[in-house]
Order: sequence, then structure tokens, then C-alpha cells
Amino acid sequence: MNTIKHILLTAAFAFLIAACDSGTEAVTPGDDTPPDETDTDEPVLDDETFLTDETGRVFSYVPSGDLLPASGPGHTDTTIYRSDINFPLEDAAFLNSQVYRYGGSQGSINGMDGGQCHTSNYDYPWQDTFCESRSRNQIMCPDGGHEGVDIRAASCIPDTSATHWAVAVEDGRIIAPSSSRYTVRLQSNDGTLYRYMHLKMDALAVTDGEFVIKGQRIGKVSNDFFNSAGDPVPTTYHLHFEMYQNYSPDEETDPVFDQVSPYMTLVNAYEKKLRGAE
Ligand SMILES: [Zn+2]
Repeated sequence: MNTIKHILLTAAFAFLIAACDSGTEAVTPGDDTPPDETDTDEPVLDDETFLTDETGRVFSYVPSGDLLPASGPGHTDTTIYRSDINFPLEDAAFLNSQVYRYGGSQGSINGMDGGQCHTSNYDYPWQDTFCESRSRNQIMCPDGGHEGVDIRAASCIPDTSATHWAVAVEDGRIIAPSSSRYTVRLQSNDGTLYRYMHLKMDALAVTDGEFVIKGQRIGKVSNDFFNSAGDPVPTTYHLHFEMYQNYSPDEETDPVFDQVSPYMTLVNAYEKKLRGAE
């Protein structure tokens, strides 16, 4: 009996060690030395076969919750909420800050003075922007924050005039794009809600109430945005993307929409895309 206990304890300890090790974030290609656990700003290259996009660039990302310096507290969440969704853009894409990088109003804080088409805005690694500082006081970011992630398209539209399509991440229904002047919502059959913002709203490929299938085009990445007075105030060209889980404790109670960070869900979806497994 004691022997069995010892084996179980040893196994549990080994599992614990393995679990701790798996929490190490930074991995560098071709480097066999153990990663430095204190250095979490290194991009993650967690696939033995590096994944490349259509231009041959190697995909990497900064871990969840590691935002640019002085850009906000962030929110670490490594959960992949839906492993079966498509990535919301058809082509290559770059997640990073629209405010604290080149072309953003706070770019100079990080020495990033320049326009939104700066080449480094259109490159890897991805960086999380969930709970980036904002004046709005939102539930997930109590000091005010950005409750979504920002996604640049494959190329900078003002320079290239290219069209980059946003697509349905899963089968679902389009909800009232007309109710918000810059937001299109998609609700899947299980209630999960996605919000797509800043598309070219006068040229959407969907209509209110339309059922769409995974991968179907919704609209073009653009810069549509309006202030509280309803006047157009164009933002940078990007897709702002949000995700809400649907939860109801019983059939009698109306569901609650619980906003979550989509960052790692999108990392997983993009890796699948680059593998050709969407
Ligand atoms: Zn945003």
C-alpha cells in the first residue's frame, strides 16, 4: 500500500513539475537552452515546424497579457474558448495596438512616431491589446480598458488600396448591423456572440438577420468610426474583434453574455489557418 502511495505521490510530483514547466512562455527557435522564465516579452514560437504565412514570414506572438510598455494593465487569459472557429480575416493579419504604435495617438510614448502604414505595424510578433488603457470603465478592465483585440489586415489599405475581407468565424446569424453605425454582430447556434467593428459599413456583404456559414465574407476591413455626436471620426484601418460567451444557469433565466479575451482563441485559429487546417 505504501509503495502504491509512493508511486502515486511521485507521479503527482512529476506531473506538477511538468505543469510548471509547461507554463514557461518564451521559446526561441534553434535555441536549446532553457528559456528565461522572467523574460515574457519574447515572442512565442511554439510549433516545432514554424508556421509561415503566404508571404513566407514566420508567425510568432507575445504571450497573452503582455502589452506594450505604458499601454495599460492588460489581462492575462490563456484560454482557447473555441478551438473550432475560423480566423476572422481571409488573409494574413497582425494583432497589435492601434493607439500605442506607429499611427496611434500615443505612439510617441514608445518611440513609435510615424504613420499607420509603418512596416513594423504589419509584421509579427502579434501583441495582445485586451485591457489596453481606454477612458471607458468596463467590467473586465476596471481602470478602463479595451475589451477586444485589434487586427490589422495583410497590407496597409491607405498605401495599397487592397481589399481585405472579414469572414464569419463560425456558422451563425448576423444581428442588426444597422443598430450600430460601426459594429456587425454574429451569433452562433450555441449563443456565442462576436462583434466585428470598423468594417466598411456602406458595403457590407451581409444583411440583418442573415444566416451565414463559417468563412463567408461579412465585410471589408476599413476605418469606420463615429463619435458620440454621430460624426465620422475615422480610426486606423483595422478590425476590432470581441467575443462573448453565452451562459444561462437554467432554461427559465435569460442568458448572460460574458465577455472574454479572444487573444489565444485567435492565436489557435490563426495557427490552424497557417497549417491549412481551417
Ligand atoms: Zn479596438
